Amino acid sequence: MKIHHVGIAVESLEKAVPMFELLLGHSPDSTEEVGDQKVRVAVFQVGESRIELLEPISPDSPIARFIAKRGPGIHHITLAVGNLQNTLDTLEQRGVRLIDRRPREGAGGESIAFLHPSSTANVLFELLEERDRKQADNNQEQQSK
Ligand code: ZN
Repeated sequence: MKIHHVGIAVESLEKAVPMFELLLGHSPDSTEEVGDQKVRVAVFQVGESRIELLEPISPDSPIARFIAKRGPGIHHITLAVGNLQNTLDTLEQRGVRLIDRRPREGAGGESIAFLHPSSTANVLFELLEERDRKQADNNQEQQSK
């Protein structure tokens, strides 16, 4: 397991990106829109993890609501897991409150799910199953058939 990324809510990418470029020493590796969350995301690779700056593109974006309530700042921490559905099932069986009981598609087309912060020290955790790993598993399965 590793920390895949830390999601930081910002009011404006245009304003936030230059400071992170200074801090991290390079420009964003990618910028994309995630329609589901109504955000624009600037992704900075930092070692094996990433920092993702999340700018709301609509007032009803979860990120817009977060900023209105708590101000800009760390929004979520994402852990990469091997099998997301199994992980969700295990956590739920042990009494962890889930926001998503089934994986859904996140930035970059990877499978993600959120845990409810009431179970995790008031921190929003996202679990992510890395796409390349899943493909590698599928390839292995196909090879073993
Ligand atoms: Zn995320």
